[in-house]
Amino acid sequence: MHVTVTPLQDRYGRVATDLRISLTDRCNLRCSYCMPAEGLDWLPTDEVLTDDEVVRLVDIGVRLLGVEEVRFTGGEPLVRRGLVDIVRRTREVGPGLELSLTTNALGLARTAEALSDAGLDRVNVSLDTVRRETFETITRRDRLHDVLAGLAAARDAGLTPVKVNAVLLRDINDGEAPELLRWAVGEGYQLRFIEQMPLDAQHDWSRAAMVTAEEIFERLGTQFDLTPAAEPRGSAPAELFLVDGGPATVGVIASVTRPFCGDCDRVRLTADGQVRNCLFAREESDLRTALRSGATDEEIAQRWVVAMRGKRAGHGIDDPSFLQPDRPMSAIGG
Ligand code: SF4
Repeated sequence: MHVTVTPLQDRYGRVATDLRISLTDRCNLRCSYCMPAEGLDWLPTDEVLTDDEVVRLVDIGVRLLGVEEVRFTGGEPLVRRGLVDIVRRTREVGPGLELSLTTNALGLARTAEALSDAGLDRVNVSLDTVRRETFETITRRDRLHDVLAGLAAARDAGLTPVKVNAVLLRDINDGEAPELLRWAVGEGYQLRFIEQMPLDAQHDWSRAAMVTAEEIFERLGTQFDLTPAAEPRGSAPAELFLVDGGPATVGVIASVTRPFCGDCDRVRLTADGQVRNCLFAREESDLRTALRSGATDEEIAQRWVVAMRGKRAGHGIDDPSFLQPDRPMSAIGG
């Protein structure tokens, strides 16, 4: 049967092909820039999409809407029961998909092999330090050793390139940037520094306290020679640099000071089945209710297409009128 693919295009001409799906809003760390130390209500279980619903939405995305890349996120996707099976079924409906996972790597040592066998291509691991005390300060948990074991298991299972995403926090780990890069290069991981965005649950973010890309370059420049890598950036947010002439690279994602919204190809689905056309969207479009009230695949696809049209030109963090989204990152999906 002939199927017509309708691209997820917004009114600025951008087409979303990269689908990020949050599988849970729960996490087993409590990073200070993401969640408060205590309290933060989780989504009720019956509001979270079931495995079947997730796979159905992936299938609609791939078959009817031109989705080419799927990344599972959270919260922490490894705490989702049935993750390996979701990955396997996603691979079945999208044999050509680029399929990855954003994770804190806790417990990855146990599942990396199974995830790779199920069809996962690679992982992005969030890690901001390789010092045990700093890790505990940032995440409020003493689990650095588990993360390092998870990273090694991912590499051994062929979930490569293993990317490590780091956020620098002023007076906490901003002095550790060169040390982190030296470690990543030695381990064969691709390190990317990301400017911290205003997505914390407790709304503590401040532009003045944020460590900028410019500062990151300065700090790395004291110990490394960084030259722009030849690869075109395209819609990839990281600007890549060769470390001491290469082949190792480091990425800098200047999400706030040099936004890349003009090339954005992303769309997000929250764990409770809401389409968010941008990380900073103020509106969502409810696919879960449609799924649960008997809508056809075509009707759901149509709803999704309409949701994309309202995507704004950019995040507007520097606008005086900027409003942080109500949902924190843990509930949106990174
Ligand atoms: S802020 Fe929104 S438009 Fe900009 S890159 Fe992120 S998701 Fe895309």
